[in-house]
Amino acid sequence: ACLARISQVDGKVKAFLRLDERGALAAAEASDARRKSGNPHGPFDGVPVAVKDIFLTEGVETTCASRILKGFVPPYDATPVRLLKEAGMPILGKLNQDEFAMGSSNESSAYGPCHNPWDVTRTPGGSSGGSAAALAAREVFGTLGTDTGGSIRQPAALTNTVGLKPTYGRVSRYGVISYASSLDAPGPMARTVGDVAALMKVLARHDPLDSTSAPADVPDYLADLEQGVAGLKLGVPREYFVEGMDPEVEASVRSALKEYERLGATLVDVSLPHTKYALATYYLLAPAEASSNLARYDGVRYGHRARDVKGLKDMYGMTRDEGFGPEVKRRIMLGTYALSAGYYDAYYLKAQKVRTLIREDFTKAFAQVDALVTPTSPVPAFKLGEKVNDPLSMYLMDVCTLPCNLAGLPGLSLPCGFTKAGLPIGLQLMGRPFDEAKLLRIARAFE
Ligand code: GLN
Repeated sequence: ACLARISQVDGKVKAFLRLDERGALAAAEASDARRKSGNPHGPFDGVPVAVKDIFLTEGVETTCASRILKGFVPPYDATPVRLLKEAGMPILGKLNQDEFAMGSSNESSAYGPCHNPWDVTRTPGGSSGGSAAALAAREVFGTLGTDTGGSIRQPAALTNTVGLKPTYGRVSRYGVISYASSLDAPGPMARTVGDVAALMKVLARHDPLDSTSAPADVPDYLADLEQGVAGLKLGVPREYFVEGMDPEVEASVRSALKEYERLGATLVDVSLPHTKYALATYYLLAPAEASSNLARYDGVRYGHRARDVKGLKDMYGMTRDEGFGPEVKRRIMLGTYALSAGYYDAYYLKAQKVRTLIREDFTKAFAQVDALVTPTSPVPAFKLGEKVNDPLSMYLMDVCTLPCNLAGLPGLSLPCGFTKAGLPIGLQLMGRPFDEAKLLRIARAFE
């Protein structure tokens, strides 16, 4: 049924970069056999899913939506992919995204943008745009995305779906192509909070293959889902109701806050005073880490290699010039500049210090409240093409989502209503480290 739906709608949505029909059908048949013999691999055996193209998939081409990785077929699965397979979940294919997860609109994909199923002239958000659009278009039941600065939550907000960015280290990054290693967080997306909780049950565990994977205990994410919010304290950080925010988004978030009060939660006005530096801090640190991570694409080890070159240095240069798109080049140049001798102290080191201040803001807030409630994106889905030539206004899309990554905290986006024009609006919840279960419970109460 999912494959039929994909062939029906994906020509317009373009959520999939490639299907693995054979692999998915074989997995589905194996799952069927297990069910018939009364021996399924747990409750989600047989449920079809799909993954962002940033996840390595054994035997299935993985490009991270870049030309430089065209034709690259990984010899192993990323840990989150392996865990889905072990749970018996057939993987239908690889989903569209921004190139190397750099972007907020899916337009930096080297293979063409993904379209928002609610209005195909608009972006589904990014960078995990395909992961969100495939859900909204009802092509699949669950997907994996990654969130370095909002890439799970913002597309979820723009497509009326649910996305969870886990605490840094909660879900393994092994086999997930690196963008900014100190910020990258793989996580689940689905159409309901319960489905996201179910996927978290499959994905959250310690992985010795990722040195930053957390050994912390894994709770049962489904156990407390229906506990409600009565007695919980929800913080409303005033800095998140930013200037330039769409008035319909603000109104919808304010009415969600009222609903939480009606459900028995107490709202607390809190301040996170360093929020205004998050954007600048992120757009120094993320490109700096990216410029180092992307040095490995040299035409020797993976994917594309330039032809007709004059020697090794020329081969490196030509390969990278042909293989990377303009946004990726911009980030490599920004990052290299920020890390260069003479500028390191002024930019990179300063940004690291501000990152600590941002984290401390959250620690103080969480001494008072159980979770924070904010908008996910200051605006609903914008038109494809509207911001491509204005990188700064594209970066501004991330104001509400970046601080959470800088602090390593869990964050969740859930549907919060629609604008008059019928565009989805998202509500963001942020929690204490490893408190994903509480975020899911708070989200479920509003759903
Ligand atoms: N939009 C942000 C960026 O371009 C975040 C991307 C992400 O979370 N992967 O860097």
